[in-house]
Amino acid sequence: MNRFDAIICDNDGCLTAEDTSPFDLAALSRIAEHNAIAARDRDRPVLTLCSGRPIPFVEAMCRLLANDVLPAIAENGVWIYDPRTNAMELDPRINTEHLEAVHEMERWIAADFEPKGVDIQPGKRASVSLWHADTEYLRTTVCDTIRDRAEREAWPFRVSMTWFYINCDLNFITKGTAIERLIERDGLDRTRLAGIGDTPSDVAIAERVAWFGCPANASPEIRERADYVASKPEAQGVLELLNVIDAMSVAGE
Ligand SMILES: [Mg+2]
Repeated sequence: MNRFDAIICDNDGCLTAEDTSPFDLAALSRIAEHNAIAARDRDRPVLTLCSGRPIPFVEAMCRLLANDVLPAIAENGVWIYDPRTNAMELDPRINTEHLEAVHEMERWIAADFEPKGVDIQPGKRASVSLWHADTEYLRTTVCDTIRDRAEREAWPFRVSMTWFYINCDLNFITKGTAIERLIERDGLDRTRLAGIGDTPSDVAIAERVAWFGCPANASPEIRERADYVASKPEAQGVLELLNVIDAMSVAGE
């Protein structure tokens, strides 16, 4: 009867705002209600996270959204967090040398950029995220300097800019590689997965699910990939997409 078994959902710009605005608790509570019913009655797909956020944030969101049955993805694919057991699984391909490169890069950034007001986001293990009050400074100066240095040092990183952060991710780790791990690990069927995202990095989700939706605030590049774009932004949009997904199950599509 269910069309889907799981919904893989990005966090920033989907469940929460990109900036530091408060949670839309009314909308998130309704998503939690959906998840609680999904876990109890198995009549609808559970929504889980696939996020660039550090693992403690993702763990907290699993609790908030009443997802205690399906693993979530954190730190842009570095981690799978299993809320059933509290297990935190680092991608097994990440070795000591990779972690050394992360530390080396962090030391250099701390020395050169922290005095200029760049913050290294705490709580990440195998990636580095940087923030500055002046996003333009990050975008125009810091990002290129880091990219050049990573190339010179042969550090294995992909350096990219999000709305407010520079992300330095190991070049063989993406949200997509973690979704592949999750599918394999939990025996999921990709033809029975739905996904939600709002920026081009969520193409990694769109490529691995049978149905993909966007909230109204999604960027044009990712909207092109969507089967459905909600009329409302962020968590309100995700709620709207849950209704569309549930209606597809009822209709037997
Ligand atoms: Mg996002």
